[in-house]
Amino acid sequence: MKTFAVLQLAGCAGCEVSLLNADEWVGEYRLAYMPLVVSTHDMPEVDLLLVSGGVRNEEDLYNLRRAVPRAGKVVAIGTCAISGGVASLGDRDDVRQVFLADRARHHVPRLLPKCSPIDAVVPVDLYLPGCPPTPELFMVLLTDPPDFKPGAIVCVECGRKKRKDMRPSRFAGFQRGEVDPGICLINQGFLCIGSSTRGGCRAPCPRAGHPCVGCRGPSNALIEKESAAWLSSIQRVISSLTDIPAGEVDLALRSPHLSLFLFQFSDYSGPERKPRPKEKVI
Ligand code: SF4
Ligand code: SF4
Ligand code: SF4
Repeated sequence: MKTFAVLQLAGCAGCEVSLLNADEWVGEYRLAYMPLVVSTHDMPEVDLLLVSGGVRNEEDLYNLRRAVPRAGKVVAIGTCAISGGVASLGDRDDVRQVFLADRARHHVPRLLPKCSPIDAVVPVDLYLPGCPPTPELFMVLLTDPPDFKPGAIVCVECGRKKRKDMRPSRFAGFQRGEVDPGICLINQGFLCIGSSTRGGCRAPCPRAGHPCVGCRGPSNALIEKESAAWLSSIQRVISSLTDIPAGEVDLALRSPHLSLFLFQFSDYSGPERKPRPKEKVI
């Protein structure tokens, strides 16, 4: 039986929880190392190494460099491993100040100057995007089922209807009230970026009435392009369905919760964030 390990760097453990919600891999793989649930002191040699979280401190760097030579293949799972994700919020001066101001925290591993995606440090064979990737996607990664057919974009899996005759002139506030279950959220004044986001997650957010924030990264049509192409594609869709001024759309697209995901496959904020080749992304 093949073996795999899970190395957790700076992240939130949501990726691990999602992995454990899939069990189709149990007959094919043995989980040999995962400190969250398997008490093994050291990582043995494995066929597959799944890495979650960004490289935020010296311990992350040490653990990653030590683990990779023991693995046949390396998979970056989740936004944090792919681009830094929530862990890169620690790059902000105010967060760093809070962290360093408390003397009780001085014994923890030293922060690196900035959070890095893992492919800035080690070669990566495959990317499994999402925050977190859904259990189904972990199943696909570990069992490679022949009948898995993801939609090219989230809209395909969402099923809401886009309408040309329902054009809001401003974004809806949080007090919007009931959301029509059959109509595209953009027509209802929400900034949903499912039209350029990679499908495969089955659109849980827009189906539930919450706009897609793009945690799966750009679709194959955009993945090898720079972040500006993704932004223009989103802007085109919003202006075809609403009368919201372009300046307001641009401002909304740069809000922190979206920018965590929007630039995950692009060269937006550093030379190490290069577009990834689409054949390496599930
Ligand atoms: S990608 Fe999302 S779920 Fe996974 S560790 Fe990062 S924040 Fe958590
Ligand atoms: S833009 Fe969002 S709500 Fe509209 S169809 Fe696409 S995923 Fe669904
Ligand atoms: S719908 Fe969008 S935000 Fe939600 S899981 Fe899918 S890609 Fe991520």
